[in-house]
Amino acid sequence: HAKAHRRGRAQVFDDAMHRTVVDRLELEGELRVAIAEDALEVWYQPVIDLENGHLRAFEALVRWRHPTRGLLPPKTFIPLAEDTGLIVPLDRWMLRAAAREIAGWAPAPGRPPPALGVNLTAAQLHLPDLGNEIRSVLEDTGLAPEQLTLELTENVLMDDRAATLATMRALRGLGIGLALDDFGTGYSSLSYLRRFPISDLKVDRSFIEDLDGSRSGTALVRAVAELGRALRLTTVAEGIETAQQYALVRELGFTLAQGFYISPPLDARAARTLAQQPGPLVAPTGEITGSHG
Ligand code: C2E
Ligand code: MG
Ligand code: MG
Ligand code: MG
Repeated sequence: HAKAHRRGRAQVFDDAMHRTVVDRLELEGELRVAIAEDALEVWYQPVIDLENGHLRAFEALVRWRHPTRGLLPPKTFIPLAEDTGLIVPLDRWMLRAAAREIAGWAPAPGRPPPALGVNLTAAQLHLPDLGNEIRSVLEDTGLAPEQLTLELTENVLMDDRAATLATMRALRGLGIGLALDDFGTGYSSLSYLRRFPISDLKVDRSFIEDLDGSRSGTALVRAVAELGRALRLTTVAEGIETAQQYALVRELGFTLAQGFYISPPLDARAARTLAQQPGPLVAPTGEITGSHG
């Protein structure tokens, strides 16, 4: 009886395994086609200047309009893309598509054109020719280097390669910003900040979640704000979901903020319209203006 039971479970397990492998193979094939045929979309999440509530930038976030599964968020295919190497063409496509799109957007009267943040994975940063590749994207699209910030996670810096440092220096030399994304969640050490030419710190959403006004909840976020000031880095608070969190990060002296409280990621059309809106997105009182979000 026990043996039959075991065999039964093993059978179920094998079926599930089989389905997963087939699913992954199918998804990999579909993703390859999606990248080649422009079935991916760039969505744009507004990033605002905490000093005046004005739009400063958009973070480009990938979405996949799948023929049968609907609009897929990155967590459903980025891990697969990383495992299969498809992340390199995916990120390449994203950078080019977002740069081309945003370079064509007219800013609101009297405002500078919005900047662009693009996520890159480690594999990208290890490409020997990334500097030249990005320079040609800027040339082809007309995006100014000062408009572009590349977002990297701490694991990129962990396998400490001389080539990575050289690439980062080359990018900064072009005038491009380099942000440390999800700051505080990896094995970040202060020595990374000394060693690598980072321009922005994006404190992870999990720390913002802890901002309940208590001393302990605020301590880490306050420390990041102070670190940013001391090292003259731009500090970004991501995952702002409430008016209270917004008020707190502003009070702590963060430079920029991003989150559902301000606006969720928008499709290109909605983002382009938002970019032309005169006046701040967030009023000095912390209230959201306009009808986005
Ligand atoms: P990320 O770079 O940290 O991007 C921020 C994520 O947080 C986005 O999720 C955004 O929609 C979400 N978010 C923003 N504000 C809030 C908020 O107030 N509350 C909550 N709960 N979430 C918020 P998304 O678009 O699902 O992207 C997830 C991650 O996938 C990104 O995290 C990034 O690491 C990765 N990713 C997205 N697009 C790309 C890409 O083109 N290339 C690469 N390599 N990675 C990408
Ligand atoms: Mg990011
Ligand atoms: Mg982030
Ligand atoms: Mg994050």
